[in-house]
Amino acid sequence: MNYNEVFCEVNKLLKSHVDNGTVASYIPELQKVSPDKFGVHLCTVDGGNFAFGDSEEKFSIQSISKVLSLTMAFEIEEDKLWKRVGVEPSGNPFNSLVQLEYDEGIPRNPFINAGAIVIADVLVSKLKKPKEDFIKFVRQLSGNNQIDYSDRVAQSEKSKGHRNAALCNLMKSFGNIENDIDEVIDFYFDLCSIEMTCSELARTFLFLANYGKDPVSGNKIISSSKSKRINAVMQLCGLYDEAGEFSFKVGLPGKSGVGGGIAVVHPGKYSMVVWSPRLNKKGNSNKGVRFLEEFTSYTESSIF
Ligand code: GLN
Repeated sequence: MNYNEVFCEVNKLLKSHVDNGTVASYIPELQKVSPDKFGVHLCTVDGGNFAFGDSEEKFSIQSISKVLSLTMAFEIEEDKLWKRVGVEPSGNPFNSLVQLEYDEGIPRNPFINAGAIVIADVLVSKLKKPKEDFIKFVRQLSGNNQIDYSDRVAQSEKSKGHRNAALCNLMKSFGNIENDIDEVIDFYFDLCSIEMTCSELARTFLFLANYGKDPVSGNKIISSSKSKRINAVMQLCGLYDEAGEFSFKVGLPGKSGVGGGIAVVHPGKYSMVVWSPRLNKKGNSNKGVRFLEEFTSYTESSIF
């Protein structure tokens, strides 16, 4: 399929779509991004690359990195991991404190903030140099040694990160955080601060479209069983309290971030990233969701 043509056609369909979303402002640095940026990149498992718009511009991947930290922690901890974090959709905002109290410090899933903070805690415990070791892993997945954290974005989030600190403290009180709170939270902010282009991020997610094996390098990153499970969690939890609607409209496992990116995979076929910074009320890219909905409808192809 010539996806470049499909992108043009889908973009035409969205011409009349009025985007009333707003750029994330609770992380001051994110507010500086031009709201009307729009990029798409798709990598097929057999080596095809298709792009549209601002696909070569770096953006803050934010929560999309939670898929990569989960991949690393799952590989280290195996099924022990699921004693500390669940795999159920939350049906609540990604930073909810109320639900965490109710669930006695065991987050519903690894993609809400509390769950990703537990994953960060696991990595702080198990890696010799968490920050260095994690970015090395991301560079391996992306085949790109230039991928890096943004200290500017991490510091900006830290300056306003009281709610995430509250989640971490609450979990510590329930005995679900092993390390020092500041160390865990700083590492969590670092994870969220990674910057990539749509093409770099789509390339990074390719192993999840290929049953755990990177089709470009030939490296086996994780088992096909783990790849299935990570995609399943993305399907059910990747867009927080919009996961059901996203599944209904798009029909692919996906993960969003408040930087406006959404990464999706179609196992056996492709990985794809869309980026548009204006967010809807659930904190997901407004145009990104619309584009993916029209894309899977136009191509008549989803996992269902
Ligand atoms: N760093 C952001 C936060 O913790 C990530 C949230 C997101 O991308 N949904 O609030």
